[in-house]
Amino acid sequence: MTDTWSVDEHLDDVLRAVRPLDPIELQLLDAQGCVLTEDVTVGAALPPFANSSMDGYAVRVADVEGATEAFPASLALVGEVAAGAEELPAVRPGEAVRIMTGAQLPPGAQAVVPVEWTDGGSGGGPAVDMTGPSGDQVRVHRPAALGQFVREAGSDAAAGAIALTAGTVLGASQLGLLAAIGRATVPVRPRPRVVVLSTGSELVPPGVSLGPGQIHDSNGFMLAAAAHEAGAVAYRVAAVADDPGTLRATLDDQLASADLVVTSGGVSVGAYDVVKEALSELPPEQGSVEFRRLAMQPGKPQGFGLVGRARSPLFALPGNPVSAFVSFELFVRPALRAMAGHPADALHRPRVPAELVADGALKSPDGRRQFLRGHYTPPAPGAATGTIRPVGASGSHLIAALSRANALIEIPEGVTEATPGGEFSVVLLG
Ligand code: AMP
Ligand code: MG
Repeated sequence: MTDTWSVDEHLDDVLRAVRPLDPIELQLLDAQGCVLTEDVTVGAALPPFANSSMDGYAVRVADVEGATEAFPASLALVGEVAAGAEELPAVRPGEAVRIMTGAQLPPGAQAVVPVEWTDGGSGGGPAVDMTGPSGDQVRVHRPAALGQFVREAGSDAAAGAIALTAGTVLGASQLGLLAAIGRATVPVRPRPRVVVLSTGSELVPPGVSLGPGQIHDSNGFMLAAAAHEAGAVAYRVAAVADDPGTLRATLDDQLASADLVVTSGGVSVGAYDVVKEALSELPPEQGSVEFRRLAMQPGKPQGFGLVGRARSPLFALPGNPVSAFVSFELFVRPALRAMAGHPADALHRPRVPAELVADGALKSPDGRRQFLRGHYTPPAPGAATGTIRPVGASGSHLIAALSRANALIEIPEGVTEATPGGEFSVVLLG
């Protein structure tokens, strides 16, 4: 054991060690949530051609000048153009062409008159019927301004303009834009592949009934889900027994396909602390893992290092579910987001100040930063801060209470008694 590290020192050390993954070219839907690594420029203008934003009639402005209900302009209907039509009837003086939303503006047309401002094209029939057989005349009841209800080519995005800048996180609307400009693939940082490996001879998977002394592997599922929530692709490996040889062999297998490894259990000072035993003295060519005492509660003993040929980050988290979860949120999640290319200010869960609401003062260990599970309520109208109420006790095995929490309450190192009414920083969980 080395000396004690503060939460911030450990986090800094982790973030210094991890690197963004190399960019790859991904299909649009595979790139969802990923960070774009290059500016994307607009090839062909968007929209690619002038088109109508209404169902109506394409007209020449001079032909409908001064038109009113009482004195409509009567135009000869010379054709129609639907979205996707290839043939475009020209609009000559005194003529109109029926046009649908998204259809290309025909040559000669200068504006679109919505169908509601006409007699509907049947020479006096129902005003808004676009489906019936068209007459050969349309009466227009209002004048049209030049370009009215026309979406000009390039009015959304001009050819050669930057559509999205490097660093953009690709959500639904960004992927929509990429598709609109015809991009099928984009360069992004991939989602980190995370292998989650539980250790403990007492562990059996859920669905299997428990023998004497056995418990279900909850960390494997919880940490794989947390990794997925952090934007990673998570693989859960069946729990490994407390045997250093088996653990090392499993790790060797898994490292081939992992960008990051998370283990849980086996990091304290007991007789079967398999992770520490297997990884604290790796041969130099296999990397190194350092086991530390962190000045925090829960999560005091844990390890971090770079292992395997690719020097992939490995987090050896404590076995108690709450300790594993809190450590994941504080250290692994930011590391995963850094690997996915998110900037320094977007690595962490949001934090807000909140007023502590509790039945009495909460005891906290001196010299260690404590993270209690809590339920956060946003500020009431007019209030400056929201409130935080502890959920369950401080025991790090209390996964039922953890499941009801939506925040972590941070009690600073120097505070040994957190009194109700005091303001604390809380970490908002997803
Ligand atoms: P350890 O550090 O391995 O001694 O584990 C500390 C505590 O966490 C023990 O009570 C373990 O049984 C428990 N534990 C370890 N791994 C898991 C796991 N994957 N799921 C649930 N509990 C675990
Ligand atoms: Mg164990």
